[in-house]
Amino acid sequence: MTPSSTAEIVCPSGLSGVIRKVKLSDLNLLTNRTVAREPGPSIEFEICKRLWLETSDHGPYVFNGPMPPWATDVLQGDRFFTIMQARMLTRGNDYEFDVQCDSSACREQFRWGLDLSKLPTAALSAEAKAPFMDGNKFWTTQPDGTVVGWSLPTGSVQTRIDKFVKQYGRDLSVIYAARVNFLERVDGSKVEDFFAYFADQDADNNFDFLVHEMTRLDCGVETGITVECPTCGKKQDVDVGFGGDFFLSEATRKRRERPTAR
Ligand SMILES: [Zn+2]
Repeated sequence: MTPSSTAEIVCPSGLSGVIRKVKLSDLNLLTNRTVAREPGPSIEFEICKRLWLETSDHGPYVFNGPMPPWATDVLQGDRFFTIMQARMLTRGNDYEFDVQCDSSACREQFRWGLDLSKLPTAALSAEAKAPFMDGNKFWTTQPDGTVVGWSLPTGSVQTRIDKFVKQYGRDLSVIYAARVNFLERVDGSKVEDFFAYFADQDADNNFDFLVHEMTRLDCGVETGITVECPTCGKKQDVDVGFGGDFFLSEATRKRRERPTAR
């Protein structure tokens, strides 16, 4: 292994360590047809375990040995950051991906490129670090007086979100309800079924306030970007996800696509 095959990184939470380049054997895992479309958290846990070689600073996590607890305690923000850093170490900073125009009159499919190193990254703030280290318990009082207890998305929380998404579908209300662990109305009554509660919530500033707090206190790479359709000029927000093509070069991607090309 040459020295440039590894890099020391500092994750958004402060977790620091050495990662290596992505190997061909890792790509087999990532391009497996059954998981490449929409990689779930379990494949991200596995890829982080492979990429992370040693720990120099535990950040906010408590663990023994060289390996951070990716599948349980490590924040999603650190996980994506680690995968993205390994991608940049392996293939450089330029990344291109397919976007389909969301205008129903257009539907043009186009390529969009960006420099991954330019995506802003938010560190875990001191305000968030204390409740995170104290059991990952955050408290927000919504404008209507409802008190909500919730968690930042760790590996464990992510696994719970996935379980409920499979059960109830990928609705916004499901994704937020899966992160909530306490709900008390202003009259003192407690909510037991978070999924029914959130499904019935108005999409008003009461909900926006909670989402804003959950976003403000989270850490990680800002993956939401704005792209512009070259055909109709419509601007649209997309998420730079971590798909099967994330680690592939343009040439590899084209070869893989050829058998199904028209
Ligand atoms: Zn368009």
